[in-house]
Amino acid sequence: QAKLAGKNRYHFFDADEDRSVRGHHESLEGIRHALDAREFVLHYQPKVNMRTGEVIGAEALIRWQHPQKGLLPPAVFLPVIEDHPLAVELGEWVIASALTQMELWRASGLDLPVSVNVSARQLQEANFVERLRELLAQHPSVKWGDLELEVLETSALEDVARISQVIEDCRKIGVTFALDDFGTGYSSLTYLKRLQVDLLKIDQSFVRDMLDDSDDLAILDGVIGLSGAFRRQVIAEGVETAAHGEMLLRLGCKLAQGYGIARPMPPHEMPRWSKVWRPDPAWTDISAVSRE
Ligand code: C2E
Ligand code: MG
Ligand code: MG
Ligand code: MG
Repeated sequence: QAKLAGKNRYHFFDADEDRSVRGHHESLEGIRHALDAREFVLHYQPKVNMRTGEVIGAEALIRWQHPQKGLLPPAVFLPVIEDHPLAVELGEWVIASALTQMELWRASGLDLPVSVNVSARQLQEANFVERLRELLAQHPSVKWGDLELEVLETSALEDVARISQVIEDCRKIGVTFALDDFGTGYSSLTYLKRLQVDLLKIDQSFVRDMLDDSDDLAILDGVIGLSGAFRRQVIAEGVETAAHGEMLLRLGCKLAQGYGIARPMPPHEMPRWSKVWRPDPAWTDISAVSRE
């Protein structure tokens, strides 16, 4: 199966590099220093509508531009600070940085909604919504409805009462919410009723194997049906090939994100990418299966 897009010109860590860093963790002191030295950067991965060809947004993904080691993935530093106050500080930097980027893009003619990953721990901070308001107020040209927050389904379930309240408070000020890696938690109907999110992001593990594994296909079909019944949007992560996109369209899922559409890229590449991207020609005539 051919990749939809060629490899990008700039450096990115691929699966092999990911393997080589797996298990390795940077030190807490190093991470502290990196934050002060402004070595963290955000890359952005486009989210698209495969049917219309519209670029509907971009997800901010943190990397550490290490002076010696190069671009480091979040897996080598986020777990280190998970239960440390530094995680809250870094989380706030991510939101502020994404808002600044949205302003820059806007000034150059690109009006793009942005999703930011937040940890449950961040959401549980007493003043989270208040801080969020302050940050938004500092970026007056950003429409509040253009910011989306993603929280892992599994971590939202650890404290449904609290997290659902924060989600509600954020949505009151226009900020939307997504449940990330959906399908890896309990995905129960009751939780979905309590967590009033706008979007379900189907975990990439189901997409990866859906063409060979009928159970994963059934899960995908179920989650897509569920999202429709609950009137939530649904997006598939990990769309690596045109065939993935084709099957998702058949199942009724139009929104997608994945290496087959674009890898996460540095922000200056996004305006051009958004202009030239076209959906795969194989996707145009696919009609979704009827659910009646
Ligand atoms: P996520 O939010 O589920 O993001 C998707 C991850 O899958 C990203 O890895 C992305 O680069 C990768 N990915 C995208 N498309 C494909 C594909 O087609 N195939 C494969 N194999 N992978 C794909 P990344 O950037 O290494 O981030 C890993 C996780 O780290 C994220 O998963 C998210 O949970 C967390 N993360 C990243 N940035 C932040 C952040 O700023 N704050 C917080 N709290 N967490 C973050
Ligand atoms: Mg995410
Ligand atoms: Mg995810
Ligand atoms: Mg993930």
